[in-house]
Amino acid sequence: MADESANCIFCKIVRGEIPATMVAENEAAIAFRDLDAKAPVHVLVVPRKHIVSLAHSADPATLGEVLALAGDVARQEGLDGGYRVVINTGPDAGQTVHHLHAHVLGGRNMAWPPG
Ligand code: AMP
Repeated sequence: MADESANCIFCKIVRGEIPATMVAENEAAIAFRDLDAKAPVHVLVVPRKHIVSLAHSADPATLGEVLALAGDVARQEGLDGGYRVVINTGPDAGQTVHHLHAHVLGGRNMAWPPG
C-alpha cells in the first residue's frame, strides 16, 4: 500500500517541507494558523503521525495530546472568554484535509448549532 503521508499536506507541514505559521507544539502534535481563518483566532492542531480522521483513530494517547495542545493554544492566544474546538470528520462534516485536525476557533461569538 502506498504511504498516504507522502502527499498529505499536513504531513508536509509536520516534516517542514511546506511553510506554516507555527503556534505551539508538543511531542505528539503541532499547531499552526489556518490559511483561511474563520475567526480572529483560527489554529489547527494536527497529530505528527498520519491519522486520516477521528473515524480512523484507535490511539487515545495521541488524541489526548491533540486536545491538550488545543487547550494550550487557547490559553496562549488569550481566549479567556471561551473558544470552540471542532474536528470535522468525514464528508457529511465537510472534512477536506484527510489528516485528523482540531480547529481552535476564538475571538468572536460562536453561533450554536454550527451550520
Ligand atoms: P477541514 O475542512 O476540517 O478538513 O479543514 C481543513 C482546513 O485546513 C481548512 O480550514 C483550510 O483552510 C486549512 N488548510 C488547508 N491547507 C492549509 C495550509 N497549507 N496551511 C494552513 N491551513 C491550511
